Amino acid sequence: MLNWENEQNIIIERGEGVYLYDIRGNRYIDGVSSLWVNIFGHNNRELNEAIKEQVDKISHSTLLGLANVPSAILAQKLIEIAPKNLKKVFYSDSGSTSVEIALKVAFQYFKQSGAKFKNKQKIIAATSAYHGDTLGSVSVGGVELFHSIYKPLLFDAIRITYPYCYRCPFNLKYPDCELHCAKEAEKVIGFHADEACALIIEPMIQGASGMITMPIGYMKKIEKACKDNNVLLILDEVATGFGRTGKMFAAFHEDIHPDIMCIAKGITGGYLPMAATLFTKEIYEGFLGNYEDNKTFFHGHTYTGNQLAAAAAVKSAELFEKYDLLNKIKPLIPFFNETLKDFKLLNIVGDVRNIGLMAGIELVKDGNTKETFAQKERIGHKVILKARDMGVIIRPLGDVIVIMPPLIIDRQTLDTLLSVVYDSIKSVNIN
Ligand SMILES: *Cc1c(COP(=O)(O)O)cnc(C)c1O
Repeated sequence: MLNWENEQNIIIERGEGVYLYDIRGNRYIDGVSSLWVNIFGHNNRELNEAIKEQVDKISHSTLLGLANVPSAILAQKLIEIAPKNLKKVFYSDSGSTSVEIALKVAFQYFKQSGAKFKNKQKIIAATSAYHGDTLGSVSVGGVELFHSIYKPLLFDAIRITYPYCYRCPFNLKYPDCELHCAKEAEKVIGFHADEACALIIEPMIQGASGMITMPIGYMKKIEKACKDNNVLLILDEVATGFGRTGKMFAAFHEDIHPDIMCIAKGITGGYLPMAATLFTKEIYEGFLGNYEDNKTFFHGHTYTGNQLAAAAAVKSAELFEKYDLLNKIKPLIPFFNETLKDFKLLNIVGDVRNIGLMAGIELVKDGNTKETFAQKERIGHKVILKARDMGVIIRPLGDVIVIMPPLIIDRQTLDTLLSVVYDSIKSVNIN
């Protein structure tokens, strides 16, 4: 018995495909892709080999002042798969840092664009957003539970309302509302055009705030309002990138062309920490000049462009092509949608939201009034403990149960995962 062992702790020893194994030999389906990162399964031979090959060459050399092979190849790959107007890649090591970089670059870009833009210093962000845990990303975040205590340390962001159709902040109903929320956002963007350098948003679905999906057409309207008002559009695709929504990036659902895009979680297939912020050529050129012009973006994380992470990411990008993964998951998505509909039959299920293979199930005390459970009931936590007993690892976001399996999951295992979650919710219901 090791002294860090106790009854409650599940201590993971190894993984294989969509399964995690603990030190006691129990097997679990990894129902949240080890926090939304895993794509090709655990202990994937091809990813393992790619990293081993890289270890035998070099594991890390600095990207400050030097380039390296896998990070250069990866940059090329990322540009090939990203929205077409994005041409430049800046590496870092987490979703939060990719967001910090996006915000700082947007701010500095206008600082260096001439006197008429001198007031463009603010960021527009969405209500209930989650962009990471560092102070800049928390400043543009809006999850009260995580963020409110830090208010004195944060900068002020201008807010637009993220659509939340189940609990519409305007008390309207889609589609009769005619996207009133987007019209409100257009007004905010127009009103603050002179002082806003950028708008940051999670496209199609907000993740950590509770898997909140946006209605069709909202994203396109935001994009247009940003373009019309010379406000840079930053898409935070940290959660949605790399196939999670059924397309390589969520931007493709409505053909969005952001000025800046943040990517992280799935980039290495869920193997190693790495992130990137992608930019247009115009933004990149705003940082060129003589050294003494001080246009440099002075921002460099020590492990930026790390070769092992980059080698895993290059291989992961190759595997998307080799296994035609985006087409492979296509038939799984309608099955996922259909099966999730059954969850609405459970009386503590208020709403079920999903896009691609990302889903959130919102639990409520009363389905008619949408009354929430008391925080101390920890209903989401109770559900996930039940699921563990039945061999599934999931993690709640408050009262929202998240399901986000590795993309290589087969239909039968997906079915098992969904039935376990269903039964877990049902059993908590009865208690
Ligand atoms: C997870 C997440 C982040 C933060 O990423 P970390 O790697 O945890 O810093 C930022 N934005 C979104 C949308 C995320 O889901």
